[in-house]
Amino acid sequence: MLDAGRHPNIDLMAYSEVESMEGESGAFEIRICRKARFVNEDQCTGCGTCAEKCPIQVSDSFNMGQGTRSAIYSWFAQGIPSTHTIDAKYCRQLNGKKCGICQKVCQADAIDFNQKDKIVNLTVGAVIVAAGYDIFDPSRIPEYRYRDQPNVITSMEFERLLSAGGPTAGHLNRPSDRTVIEEIAVLEKKAKKSEKMLGKYEEKYKMVSERFYRAFQSGEHGDEKDSVKWADKYKAYLEIKSKREALKTRAERFSTAKNLAFIQCVGSRDFRFYQFCSGYCCMHSIKEAIIAHEHEPETRSVIFGMDIRAVGKGFEEYKIRGGNHSNISYHRGRVAEIRGGPDNHPVVIYEDTISQTVKKEAFDMVILATACAPGKSLKKLASVLDAELDEFGFLKTNHLQPVDTTREGIFVCGCAQSPMDIPESVSQASSAASRAVQVLMTYRKVS
Ligand SMILES: Cc1cc2nc3c(=O)[nH]c(=O)nc-3n(C[C@H](O)[C@H](O)[C@H](O)COP(=O)(O)OP(=O)(O)OC[C@H]3O[C@@H](n4cnc5c(N)ncnc54)[C@H](O)[C@@H]3O)c2cc1C
Ligand code: SF4
Ligand code: SF4
Repeated sequence: MLDAGRHPNIDLMAYSEVESMEGESGAFEIRICRKARFVNEDQCTGCGTCAEKCPIQVSDSFNMGQGTRSAIYSWFAQGIPSTHTIDAKYCRQLNGKKCGICQKVCQADAIDFNQKDKIVNLTVGAVIVAAGYDIFDPSRIPEYRYRDQPNVITSMEFERLLSAGGPTAGHLNRPSDRTVIEEIAVLEKKAKKSEKMLGKYEEKYKMVSERFYRAFQSGEHGDEKDSVKWADKYKAYLEIKSKREALKTRAERFSTAKNLAFIQCVGSRDFRFYQFCSGYCCMHSIKEAIIAHEHEPETRSVIFGMDIRAVGKGFEEYKIRGGNHSNISYHRGRVAEIRGGPDNHPVVIYEDTISQTVKKEAFDMVILATACAPGKSLKKLASVLDAELDEFGFLKTNHLQPVDTTREGIFVCGCAQSPMDIPESVSQASSAASRAVQVLMTYRKVS
């Protein structure tokens, strides 16, 4: 990506969308909408001062909703171009309120609240679609209780937890525990506010709240207006304190998740959803279990799958290495159900196909290896490009020409064509580029 960003013959148009296309192979006329970022790409240095000072915090979609980001943000740290973007939906200034803090603190003078979407028209010889995939929504399988059990998460959410740049800086803190820690922080804030308020009464009446409250309860202060208010505030403070202490005691028992279950084929190889194998999930679950063990050597992982599809050079050896050195065991069988257990420990119910018995086991966290679903925007893009989709919703190709779509001059690579891992996506991208060059050469000869 860095090389593409610097290449003299490549114009990167990030944060843009193809709106329409006319013409034919060799001479397509494309209309592209470059969306307003409200930040000048050429001036933004990516320093992040604006994001630090922005008062608005929203759910961070790059971290799969785990944690927050500012209304002005960079999608992720290594993104090219290295620029920030204002999220117009949440920005105070763009919604008619007073703010403009980012503009004041930006040393590069890059903020431009008047920026508008820009239309760019291009004439191109060929098009390559590399629009990727979406993650299957596991709440479509109610028996896995993805929405009800906080410690049942998707592989992508787990990847973000494992990442040093993620919401927990790479620590496997369980979502349910994180909620408690957040609650404690909120109660700390409330307690501080209450203490400040009580301090005013204490100063006025030269008495600590605790002594006053004891006296008030024994009827010494009657029902004078100030006394009733003070007593109410002290009572509320005691409630906050007791809730906070109870949560703190609970939090003392928290530790990082060390007993992990990975459930394979969630939405894949399932005739209710996608009958195909998503290809990459067996290997990414093994990778994630190995990394979790590297972070915390006491980690034990169980991978539940109908079979482990380690197809590729060195993949089977990687799987065995995971078993021998990273405390991974592989259980054959499709998990029937996940139930809630004590202390938010999800319980996995499965058939042990060797002993042919139904078993159950509680884990710290369960990770669902979700299917590779066709991208939500692919349908619209295919219609704009007038290319057909296959039965699942990926771009249709034929087996003899796997990067040619049904429209001449339009090619496809990666998961927009079908599920595949990164090396395969990259090599398919080279094939698509070669096919596009063939079109351009033909066009050049003719014109
Ligand atoms: C949890 C998890 C872990 C994985 N780990 C690995 C791993 O370790 N190794 C490995 O080889 N593979 C791994 N994979 C698989 C890997 O993610 C895919 O192979 C790879 O992302 C496919 O690349 P792609 O370019 O086709 O699609 P994507 O990576 O999805 O990229 C598509 C891009 O197109 C953009 N886009 C979408 N629609 C449009 C549009 N209409 N206009 C403009 N842009 C658009 C998207 O925003 C996105 O940036 C993992 C997958 C998952 C789910
Ligand atoms: S103007 Fe918008 S983006 Fe800038 S600091 Fe205020 S809320 Fe954040
Ligand atoms: S790669 Fe493994 S987990 Fe993914 S669909 Fe295929 S068999 Fe299932």
